Amino acid sequence: MQLPIDSTKHQGQRMQLVALLKEKGISHPQVIAALEKVPRHWFMDPGLVSHAYKNKAYPIAAEQTISHPYTVAFQSELIDVKAGDKVLEIGTGSGYQTAILKAMQLEIYTIERQRELFKKIQRLFSQIGLRPKQVLFGDGYLGLPEDGPFDAIIVTAGAPYLPKTLLSQLKIGGRLVIPIGEDPQIMYRYTRTGEKNFDKETFGEFRFVPMLKDKN
Ligand code: SAH
Repeated sequence: MQLPIDSTKHQGQRMQLVALLKEKGISHPQVIAALEKVPRHWFMDPGLVSHAYKNKAYPIAAEQTISHPYTVAFQSELIDVKAGDKVLEIGTGSGYQTAILKAMQLEIYTIERQRELFKKIQRLFSQIGLRPKQVLFGDGYLGLPEDGPFDAIIVTAGAPYLPKTLLSQLKIGGRLVIPIGEDPQIMYRYTRTGEKNFDKETFGEFRFVPMLKDKN
């Protein structure tokens, strides 16, 4: 199948967006290179493509959203990874965050709980030739015990509480980046410093759609 177009106009708008994100404090070279490379408009609904390079969240299917570019960039920095690291993403959604992580040369496992989005994303990933290690339909609260432990876990929906199962799937030294609470959420980073020990840091308020239990 043919790749969607990535015109010079799209590329120019993308560079302007990246410049804005740098002004807002994004500085990790691997993250910036990924933001420059990945066409965000490929991950948006056709009717919203002209908005793809605004620093805003937009609706996708199943009452979910494609996250703000700044939020995607910020979480991608917080996981503090290097090329080749093994990363679990909870909440595939539009697939944009997945594509950014893949462009950062990480080994990606991603879970989506809504079948409609899961099917859509599988079609899109094959169309654009994006091959995460695993794209799964399932419940992110459970993580992926059989494929862990992970260097980092990134949760892209607002969790009502800290799912302890996810902490247990981190390598020693691994990081869990997760927004917790009700609108707004607080961004947390838990670093596993030992078998049973974790450091906790907070990074301010963000707004995410809620992380849900039931699948459909
Ligand atoms: N990373 C995505 C964010 C999408 S919004 C992007 O940039 O587009 C959050 C996503 O988390 C939604 O697609 C939602 O369906 C999914 N989600 C919510 N609860 C979940 C759960 N328990 N397990 C896995 N995915 C979940």
